[in-house]
Amino acid sequence: MKKDIHPKYQKCAVKCACGNTFETRDTMPEIHVEICSECHPFYTGKKKLMDSAGRIEKFRKKYSKFQTKKEEKEQ
Ligand SMILES: [Zn+2]
Repeated sequence: MKKDIHPKYQKCAVKCACGNTFETRDTMPEIHVEICSECHPFYTGKKKLMDSAGRIEKFRKKYSKFQTKKEEKEQ
């Protein structure tokens, strides 16, 4: 069995652009997001679905970049 292949999961404070914070588990101690279950239109019932889709895309791009950086660091 190879060790160190899986990053350590720890308590992670997720901070959303809307001001909401919640805890999850991740390899990072803190994550900043632009959208969460509190402000996502799907959950709030607001109708700005097009805008939020753009925001999610932005977030995904950001997050994938972030993941790549982390992998480079670990190598
Ligand atoms: Zn939010």
